[in-house]
Amino acid sequence: MNQQIAPPVLAPLPRLPASPTLESSAEVVVIGSGAAGATAALGAARAGRDVLVVTKSGLGAGSTTWAQGGLAAVLDATDDSWDEHIADTLTAGAGLSDRTVVEQLVRQAPEAVQALIDLGAEFDRDLGGRLALAREGGHHRSRIVHAGGDATGAEVQRTLDGSLRAAGVVVRERSIALDVLHDDRGCVAGVLIAHVDNFGRIEDVALVRSSAVVVATGGLGQAYAVTTNPAQSTGDGLALAWRAGAAVADVEFVQFHPTAFWQPQSSGQQLLVSEAVRGEGATLIDGAGGSVMRGVHPLGDLAPRDVVATAIALRLREAPGGIGDHVFLDATSIGPAMVDRFPTIVARCRAAGIDPVTEPIPVAPAAHFACGGVRARLDGITSVPGLFAVGEVAATGVHGANRLASNGVTEGLVAGHMVAIALTKTLPESGPPVLGAASLAVVDAKVRTDVALAMSRWVGPLRDGDGLTAASAHVRAPRPSTSLTSLAEVEATNLLAVSELIVHAAQRREESRGSHRRLDCTEPRDEWRKRIVQRWDGSAVTTSYEPVGGAGL
Ligand SMILES: Cc1cc2nc3c(=O)[nH]c(=O)nc-3n(C[C@H](O)[C@H](O)[C@H](O)COP(=O)(O)OP(=O)(O)OC[C@H]3O[C@@H](n4cnc5c(N)ncnc54)[C@H](O)[C@@H]3O)c2cc1C
Repeated sequence: MNQQIAPPVLAPLPRLPASPTLESSAEVVVIGSGAAGATAALGAARAGRDVLVVTKSGLGAGSTTWAQGGLAAVLDATDDSWDEHIADTLTAGAGLSDRTVVEQLVRQAPEAVQALIDLGAEFDRDLGGRLALAREGGHHRSRIVHAGGDATGAEVQRTLDGSLRAAGVVVRERSIALDVLHDDRGCVAGVLIAHVDNFGRIEDVALVRSSAVVVATGGLGQAYAVTTNPAQSTGDGLALAWRAGAAVADVEFVQFHPTAFWQPQSSGQQLLVSEAVRGEGATLIDGAGGSVMRGVHPLGDLAPRDVVATAIALRLREAPGGIGDHVFLDATSIGPAMVDRFPTIVARCRAAGIDPVTEPIPVAPAAHFACGGVRARLDGITSVPGLFAVGEVAATGVHGANRLASNGVTEGLVAGHMVAIALTKTLPESGPPVLGAASLAVVDAKVRTDVALAMSRWVGPLRDGDGLTAASAHVRAPRPSTSLTSLAEVEATNLLAVSELIVHAAQRREESRGSHRRLDCTEPRDEWRKRIVQRWDGSAVTTSYEPVGGAGL
């Protein structure tokens, strides 16, 4: 089933590049230094490739650093099995995960965790010295490895940063990838990279010639007004891969974390209150003290994320106790043990005037994880020769319609290793990059607030046809363009592009499945057991509906 639709308002899609003033080359350019990018870069460099890493802020800035709960992997074979991890992942994915890819992930996850330990990562251990394994929403077994209680991501990132430095990999910080360039046969031939000063102004633009570019830019939570994602998660990699002609899949599935710390009138990145807190016994209650999850799902408060976020969003519409914008996570049953197990969460809540040991924490859903992205195999290969995508930016078929908790960092590590192996094989040869018209149409940075509010209002945990039509008019409204002078303009342009992709897919998917919930079609429909794939060929956008596990990219 293929459908031609009108090209987006942004067409011809702005190519962001300015004329490059510097030129260099590298065998492999990795864009982004989170779990996925750092693992791919390290593996490729260790295998002898000449690798350049470009990263938007500091080396450790990105979602990985913020991960709290941990990494899912079957590490205790006496109490767990690959089959069970596979089953939990497929259940969370709500019929759209690709079983073959999930199997690859689950089987390689223990090795990926061990590889990180070999690099020096220190995970929490029990009194017997064994890895302490926690349980999270959607998991039927305790299989979550964690570090520093709730500071797992920081330990993962610390380990990888140190390893990259020790391996002598060249890293360019405060450098943003603007666009990937092709040669005249459509193969990747280089990347345009802008160096940004401390004030976010673009200093100069460099062309790095390369026939292998790995997009590892993480998520797009900043497309929403309220998110758990850090400032770097602006969907840049998805937007630039899309402009480069890569197929994009499953983008309607934006996972909302059910329990972001709620504060009045807050926007941007919010503190996440990890699912592991519910794993230790905390429960969700509404403003009138009633259980939010009772009778909703057999796993109760430990139901998969989409189920919990939807239940909270529905409960908020009823405004029990007169409270319509947040519910509460009651962790008081954990008592003082909360301080040791979740030191970061306790400290951050206390700093905001709430003591989780003695009082319920106000929480609300927030945009958290992009289940979709650049369509790729687990080894990163995309539909564009020489373009790889890995980590949260990639849609590999693992997460389907909804990611299972703690499978995110695990995927970054497993896939990062696989990309590194793919990069050691013969790389495609490319000719000189075609710089194109080098039009400098980026949108005004002011657009961003507007778009984020529209996305949160109409494209959040609960959606319907009218709201999506309103969102569509909003994200496709003509926007003033400007010349490229700052990071803010690049990010606004990319956020607008990814928002448009999300809204378009969400409008088409007339059912409720996983993290895509529509109030006007509340059930999953068999005929929608398909992936929505969008492609841009330089002149038109095509939307196709493809079977799960299909061979295409
Ligand atoms: C608060 C929070 C808690 C989480 N907890 C967990 C958890 O417990 N377990 C779990 O599995 N998952 C968790 N996740 C999700 C998980 O952290 C991410 O999915 C995963 O870390 C993504 O890794 P990544 O390498 O793909 O991207 P990131 O770690 O986000 O790294 C992306 C990198 O790309 C860079 N970048 C972005 N744009 C550009 C550009 N244009 N040019 C150059 N560089 C660019 C960024 O600066 C960054 O270095 C959590 C996420 C958040 C936000």
